[in-house]
Amino acid sequence: MTVNLPYGRIYNFNAGPAALPVSVLEQVQAELMNYRGTGMSVMEMSHRSKAFEAILHEAEADLRALYAISADYAVIFMQGGASLQFSAIPANLRGPDQSADYVVTGSWSKAAYKEARRHGATRMAYDGTPGEFVHVPRNGEAVIDPQAAYAYICSNETVNGLAFQDLPHVPEEVPLVCDASSEFVSRPLDVSRYGLLYGGAQKNAGPAGVTVVIVRRDLLARTPDTLPPMLDYRLLSEHTSLYNTPPCFGIYVTGLVFKWILGQGGLEAIARLNRAKSTNVYAVIDQSGGFYKGHALPDSRSDMNVTFRLPDTALEDQFVKAAKAEGIEGLKGHRSVGGIRASLYNAVPVEATTTLADFMREFQRRNG
Ligand SMILES: *Cc1c(COP(=O)(O)O)cnc(C)c1O
Repeated sequence: MTVNLPYGRIYNFNAGPAALPVSVLEQVQAELMNYRGTGMSVMEMSHRSKAFEAILHEAEADLRALYAISADYAVIFMQGGASLQFSAIPANLRGPDQSADYVVTGSWSKAAYKEARRHGATRMAYDGTPGEFVHVPRNGEAVIDPQAAYAYICSNETVNGLAFQDLPHVPEEVPLVCDASSEFVSRPLDVSRYGLLYGGAQKNAGPAGVTVVIVRRDLLARTPDTLPPMLDYRLLSEHTSLYNTPPCFGIYVTGLVFKWILGQGGLEAIARLNRAKSTNVYAVIDQSGGFYKGHALPDSRSDMNVTFRLPDTALEDQFVKAAKAEGIEGLKGHRSVGGIRASLYNAVPVEATTTLADFMREFQRRNG
């Protein structure tokens, strides 16, 4: 049942960088030599040109439409990946005498916690480490300090395959900060509940090199005057992401992906598809009689990153190899946790997940 897709492409379950919509890649290709009569590609034009200004403006406007972002929020296109945000967030939002609260539900929130701790007072409001990150905190398990500078969560833990279905309770005066990198623009969310929300593009929204930060404007008053400019939310937002040369080509492609999502019917429509895709894979796990063992408990399962194990690591290696031979790639779990991970981001078509589900049933029949 080897896959047979246009251009010889394969079913790509990579965790990031990850699949992009074929129609977006085709548009990039068509516009590469001469972007809309400019006589050059987006890679070759000035970031101060009219053409690029329009690209940046439209990308922001389309993102604002997708998430219904109000004028109370600034949108900043940054570089440095999600990892730079681990440093930027405490540097901008935590005053010298303040502490920040971190809800640690997996590898990425833990990495953010460790970075924040290097520079100031940081508290773990919840630690899922002892339970090996199989569920997000339930009612009352994460208690946020009402004095905290902010409360930090990672809404979708890419490595562990956990997602929040409902946000934890946060005292009204404490801004909620969220790393949404691996579920960015994959489902609707109410931006007004967050102080700051960010996502690296390379999971769901574009190529590596762009990180989108959505921050409530009143919080920009907290930014100290001493920050390096590339970390300074206030400065970058005052310059509408054009303080220096931004990642122009990445912003262009990310903007095309935003338009593609709008064309699919927006975030509600894309979320329905994403749920259908993850249901296809979780159903095989649940019906396998324990051959496939899901990592996350059902109430904390991610629609984006489905993590599971096979009876032993030799079978897992065989599984990854056999899948690859059939045109199904990117299933190896993160090197820190092993196992299998299927990432089902926006651009992964439903057929990819039915093909994967068929492959999993067949693999169990032969090896179970
Ligand atoms: C991938 C990822 C990161 C790290 O992103 P970089 O761009 O490599 O720094 C951080 N958080 C989450 C949730 C991620 O999925």
